Amino acid sequence: MPELPEVETTRGRLLPLVLGRRVLAVRHQDPGRYRRVEEAVGRRVEGIGRRGKFLLFALSGGLEMVVHLGMTGGFRLEPTPHTRLTWELEGLRLHFHDPRRFGRILVVREGDYREIPLLNRLGPEPLSEAFTLTGFLQGLAQSPKPLKALLLDQTLAAGVGNIYADEALFRARLSPFRRASSLSAAEGERLYRALREVLAEAVALGGSTLSDQSYRQPDGLPGGFQERHAVYGREGLPCPACGGPIRRGMVGGRSTHFCPRCQA
Ligand code: ZN
Repeated sequence: MPELPEVETTRGRLLPLVLGRRVLAVRHQDPGRYRRVEEAVGRRVEGIGRRGKFLLFALSGGLEMVVHLGMTGGFRLEPTPHTRLTWELEGLRLHFHDPRRFGRILVVREGDYREIPLLNRLGPEPLSEAFTLTGFLQGLAQSPKPLKALLLDQTLAAGVGNIYADEALFRARLSPFRRASSLSAAEGERLYRALREVLAEAVALGGSTLSDQSYRQPDGLPGGFQERHAVYGREGLPCPACGGPIRRGMVGGRSTHFCPRCQA
């Protein structure tokens, strides 16, 4: 699933392409998944924001188009066999590619997220100043959840999913199974720094394109952070720090990759 780095890369690549352009037409055949998207017609794209894994297109006239890429959604400049929706913009055609069809697109009045309750309860953006060490340590101290489950629930930091939770826990040398409230302040600070580091590096490298190839940048290029994965998707392969085998386990129903020797 695209996480913060993939969604942020998509935002950054799309912005210069669509900014100021008027939407001339929207074509799709799935009104259940793509709701009120026709209301974008005639509006100009005034900006693109992001909260967690949501893209927020600001449209003229006080409207906003909210896009969640789901498991396999992404924007492409060329049509694909899995194009589900096409925007005809002035001088540009943009396609929404989504093989597994979990992606959702919705046009709302700006800031009106009543139909998207998750957007209202997202925690701070981990790469913003609103994400403070003090707040992070408090969140850890108050949670009985295993670290991996807490990182995924979007309340401590928005936009973190399976890949970046596993990679941050490895860099912080913390077991995904540890109860959040059991961490010392020094351990909590290690995780805070590791999370920001991993996410910033992944954004700089254009996100992670996995072997299923489902995530790509709008121009079709893959991301580059998959080359730096230390644990995610590396079950049985040697740990880059100690050489022992990476293991896969389950936390809260999600698969989790970790090094049992390095992560305590
Ligand atoms: Zn190791």
